[in-house]
Amino acid sequence: MKKVLFLAIAVGMVGCKAQQPKSIESADVMEYANTITADELKDHLYTFASDEFMGRDTGEPGQKLAAEYLKEEYQELEIPSPLGGDDYYQEVPSSAFGRGNIKDSENVLAFIEGSTMPEEILVLSSHYDHVGVDDEGNIYNGADDDGSGTVAILEIAEAFMKAKKDGYGPKRSILFLNVTGEEKGLVGSRYYTENPVFPLENTVTNLNIDMIGRIGEGMENSGDYVYLIGSDKLSTELHNLSEEVNSKYLNLNLDYTFNDENDPNRFYYRSDHYNFAKHDIPIIFYFNGVHEDYHRPTDTPDKIEYDLLAKRAKLVFLTAWEVANRDERPFVDKPTLTEESE
Ligand SMILES: [Zn+2]
Repeated sequence: MKKVLFLAIAVGMVGCKAQQPKSIESADVMEYANTITADELKDHLYTFASDEFMGRDTGEPGQKLAAEYLKEEYQELEIPSPLGGDDYYQEVPSSAFGRGNIKDSENVLAFIEGSTMPEEILVLSSHYDHVGVDDEGNIYNGADDDGSGTVAILEIAEAFMKAKKDGYGPKRSILFLNVTGEEKGLVGSRYYTENPVFPLENTVTNLNIDMIGRIGEGMENSGDYVYLIGSDKLSTELHNLSEEVNSKYLNLNLDYTFNDENDPNRFYYRSDHYNFAKHDIPIIFYFNGVHEDYHRPTDTPDKIEYDLLAKRAKLVFLTAWEVANRDERPFVDKPTLTEESE
């Protein structure tokens, strides 16, 4: 009996080896994390936050150019759109913005399908719009806000795709969601969550990046830090996973100052992750804090700390890897926290 069973298993293993992805546990995850480099982030950002993109104002030509840039990068990386074919855009119609004459705009979506739990989705997001050009013609390049998050998402997508090509594709699916209209009131992410491409009940986590390229006010002596907001608000498990990943691989200084419910800045409610959190989807928001160039024409790519940006992007990648590949999705053990319930 034993022998027969062993033989059957052996035959089974040989039989499906060619088609099956390799065991994810045998992957050297740091090899893929290390494909996220300061140089590549810099290359992307010097284009993405250049004057040519005119501050990427929602619905305006600069934002369209930025959308095109993202689409072409995903195509070059051979990462498909979940919408099929060449269509990487989820249109966010003018009407979604309410008042203010904002033109039609678009979220840019790319997708890596999971190997064993494809119906469960991890969303990695950042906003790619910014505030445009002022009346005097000053261009708001938005290198940190949120060029930094956008180029980080591109590099993270590249790392996951490289792993997939090596046979180490993620078990769960990953949606790379570059949202528009954040600066107009989190509109692109709200539109996505009201018109989701994948059911929200199968959306297991959202990791959102908004400004991770600079050293924020008062953080000059904090070493390699990043602010984490929201990690424990819905799922203790997600928070613990995030802490474990950081201590295992990177040891960044994870700062929870702005995670305090009494913090007057209320950042938990102020970027795109909130639109997922209010639907009970666990989130982590990665942030460097505000600085003197925040929402000024001086938020330029020459001021970015590229080594630190690379380390923070690696943290998001490694955390995403763990969420995408562990047996169970992060368990929600806390009640929803909404602005209204405050
Ligand atoms: Zn922002």
